[in-house]
Amino acid sequence: MTDEIDNGAAGSRRKPWVKPSIVMHRSGLVNKFGAVHRELWQNDFDGIPIPSLVEQYGSPVFAISERKLRDNARRLIRAFSGRYPNVQYSWSYKTNYLGAVCNTLHQEGAWAEVVSGFEYEKARSLGVPGEHILFNGPHKPRAILKRVIDDGAHIHIDHLDELYLVEELAKERNIRLAVTIRLNFETGFTENWSRFGFNVESGQAMDAAWRIANSEHLKLTGLHSHIGTFVLDHRAYGAQARIMAAFMNEVEQKTGCEISLLDLGGGFASRNALQGIYLPPEQVVPSFDQYAEEICTPLLDATYERVARGRPLPLLVLETGRAVVDDAESLVCSVVGSKKLPDGRRCVIVDAGVNLLFTAFWYNHQITPTRELAGAPEETVIYGPLCMNIDVVRHSILLPPLDVGDTLIVSPVGAYNNTQWMQFIEYRPNVVMVHPDSSVSVIRRAENLETMTSLEQLPRHLDSPVAG
Ligand SMILES: *Cc1c(COP(=O)(O)O)cnc(C)c1O
Repeated sequence: MTDEIDNGAAGSRRKPWVKPSIVMHRSGLVNKFGAVHRELWQNDFDGIPIPSLVEQYGSPVFAISERKLRDNARRLIRAFSGRYPNVQYSWSYKTNYLGAVCNTLHQEGAWAEVVSGFEYEKARSLGVPGEHILFNGPHKPRAILKRVIDDGAHIHIDHLDELYLVEELAKERNIRLAVTIRLNFETGFTENWSRFGFNVESGQAMDAAWRIANSEHLKLTGLHSHIGTFVLDHRAYGAQARIMAAFMNEVEQKTGCEISLLDLGGGFASRNALQGIYLPPEQVVPSFDQYAEEICTPLLDATYERVARGRPLPLLVLETGRAVVDDAESLVCSVVGSKKLPDGRRCVIVDAGVNLLFTAFWYNHQITPTRELAGAPEETVIYGPLCMNIDVVRHSILLPPLDVGDTLIVSPVGAYNNTQWMQFIEYRPNVVMVHPDSSVSVIRRAENLETMTSLEQLPRHLDSPVAG
């Protein structure tokens, strides 16, 4: 008998023979004697059978659920607008800037939050009006800033040199331009990302506010901060809201400015398993309601007086990225081979690696077979297709033996993979969107030789592999 006998012979419905394996019984690791599987297999994505997805769009293939994406955005907005009456959601482009994703969220009422000239141009080309774009980030080139000002988009100033540049451009136009400054501070729950914005504790932020107050061409109307990403401790947001509201009240009182926009950035955790955290995401990731409660309560407290005096509530802006898109997208990939490593572990090689799953460096994605598998689960390493030792999709997962051609669903993968993916030795695959009526569209076509080489130019003497 060979390793695995044919189980597809006509009339034969025998279970496939699986090579026996010896699995060390280790405490702390679930194994075949104590395995509790959340879901053993899943053969559809949002109602579409996986084999038909792969047959039509190839493997690997990214799949996005439009229904889930809309539902996440609605739940987020509802959690906040039910607690604070003046809320604006803004989509963080860098989390996933595929046009169909952005427009789905814009249709749900989201503005665009962009951090580069490219993202700004993309938002404009999708049809987002300037006044619905927030321009963040540490690098805003002069040429794009001119356009941003003329379009009436919101500028969130990151540092003093940028402040001087924006002031110079406002002066050239002979206008008094409303601007927002980015703040950084200690929340007590997160590491301070002090490289972005002006520091509150050192007095730098107040200095910047004075600088703007004394300018003929600028006025301070907004405050922004973004305290981190995948922030699991929702109390960090309570601290952020209190610090920003206190700064708002102080800066208004001292400099006479009027703040009408408080932008608390993003950073809410998604239902993903960060490496090094051993409890499942369902237990450690706060809900939108928990985040909203932390933020809205101190904001309402701090704005009570201004409302009593007849001033409107500042617009609360949210830039939630990963928590809205992550679990709306999965990656389907296929097994191309398997082997035993010298230390006895089994490894499988799949056709999608860290080129497509940048987030595999930080998260233990859920990896689910798409059919019921025979055989005992064994500790398995999942490698991608790259000729790079670091191309590991999962360092350790319990899986029954897999055959060549078996498909796996990797999720959630909607945040940062379609923007941080890299083109290294492989083509990037199709990205499809499953619509609420169960129709499917390709929203980004697979790359091919032509798309990959379209920007290259061959100097005349190098247009052939043969000299002369
Ligand atoms: C990246 C980023 C976001 C989105 O962050 P998530 O962690 O994905 O929610 C929001 N605002 C700013 C300024 C960012 O840089």
